[in-house]
Amino acid sequence: MITYLDRKLPKTIFSLIFVTIFSMLITVYAESSVGYPLLNWGKKNWDITQNMGKYYESYNGYHSGVDWNLPGNQDIGEEVIAIANGTIVKKYFINANNGWLVAIEHEGNFYIPSKVHSNYKYLSEKTNKIYSIYIHLDDLPLYVGENNKILRGQVIGYITNGGNGPHLHFEIRKNGTINSESFTLFGDKSNYAKYQNGENTGYYKNAQKMVDDGAVDPPGFIENNYSKIPDGPFADVPYNYWAAQYIQYCSENDIITSSNELFHPEKEITRAELLKMAYKAANIHSLNACYTNYDSGFSDVQKDHWVCKYTKHAVENNYIANNTNFYPDNKITRAEAVKILLNVFNLKIENGKYYTKDKQINLNEEIISFKDVPKSEWYYKYIHFIANVTIPANNNNSIIRSWGSRIIDGYVDINNRNIHFFGPNDYMLREQFAKVVTNTKFFFENPFSSTNIISIGNDPEHDPTVKERIGL
Ligand SMILES: [Zn+2]
Repeated sequence: MITYLDRKLPKTIFSLIFVTIFSMLITVYAESSVGYPLLNWGKKNWDITQNMGKYYESYNGYHSGVDWNLPGNQDIGEEVIAIANGTIVKKYFINANNGWLVAIEHEGNFYIPSKVHSNYKYLSEKTNKIYSIYIHLDDLPLYVGENNKILRGQVIGYITNGGNGPHLHFEIRKNGTINSESFTLFGDKSNYAKYQNGENTGYYKNAQKMVDDGAVDPPGFIENNYSKIPDGPFADVPYNYWAAQYIQYCSENDIITSSNELFHPEKEITRAELLKMAYKAANIHSLNACYTNYDSGFSDVQKDHWVCKYTKHAVENNYIANNTNFYPDNKITRAEAVKILLNVFNLKIENGKYYTKDKQINLNEEIISFKDVPKSEWYYKYIHFIANVTIPANNNNSIIRSWGSRIIDGYVDINNRNIHFFGPNDYMLREQFAKVVTNTKFFFENPFSSTNIISIGNDPEHDPTVKERIGL
């Protein structure tokens, strides 16, 4: 059995060094955005209790990362987050004492500062790929799987209550040998420190060879590549906010553009904002500009309004009704928002059946029904759809895996959790729509999972093109 044992040490002067580093951060220039691997970093009394390159007699070798601790057992269950956007390349259960290991590959323009340590040294260099490694984790979220994308600040696990004192063991690598027996053992195998019985300890016999093979001192690396304390995607959206991952996804994928540091998540979304977000999410980019004030289709949207090209396209394609006014700055109800969103994604609804890309989406079951969405209402068909389709489980997106498999959930009665409400006439909030538009995008990227596809050939009656041909 391989063991990677890191014993916890009493507080040392490393804490002083780290406080100094922390106070210097705002002056450091960095091309890539890297944060700390702990959600509560900076808010609690974290301490580096073991540095890289330290020799441990028990393991006959040198430590390839740093250990971050809270006093006593306070770090049990603390959230560990990805330091930068990347791809998970390794997820590995070491053993009950040591918990899980997660390794993430990050691409970007990184700068590795030089380091001179009593046991090793290396020169500065630039690199476009690094790996971050997190050990002693527990309760990994479902989306933490190999080859899955991960966002900076997203939780990848929690510090486990291992047998050796809870802490986070954290490493940075400039090279990765991901097919070795474990990601922590890399480079030349002759450098692995072993127990007397021949098992690897997870430590290295030669510290200089360890860094020559790719180990990088984590605090120095983070200091030099740090841009912003990862409190959240926006100043008013911390990472532990319920919709943070959706808002961050929308921000990073150009679905929302924010001109300042604030997102205003709990504000009502406007009709113009909603229409633009729907178009961005649906990847409809080649829109014709408005040349006259008539092009918008509405009296209150002039040709120079930024939303004009969206309303023009939406009216031409019957995504929105061609009334006199569009009211771009007005709030919009949740029912109306869902209707417009599904229209922009070109969902066709005929006789209670749903179609996209000329195929039917099978919705046999009504798993979620809302007390305030009666079948007699015009919005029933939209809300029924968006609340009951499932997003395919094989979707590799971390957001879907983390938040469940339905596009929208509605509300639950506090006294009876089996009673659901949708709030069709409530106004749609910006945070709510960030979730709905993100999930809708993922659904329509792969709407025909094995459980909900009916192909044209199998069911010609439900093919809208066939219906047209026979004049129904
Ligand atoms: Zn360690």
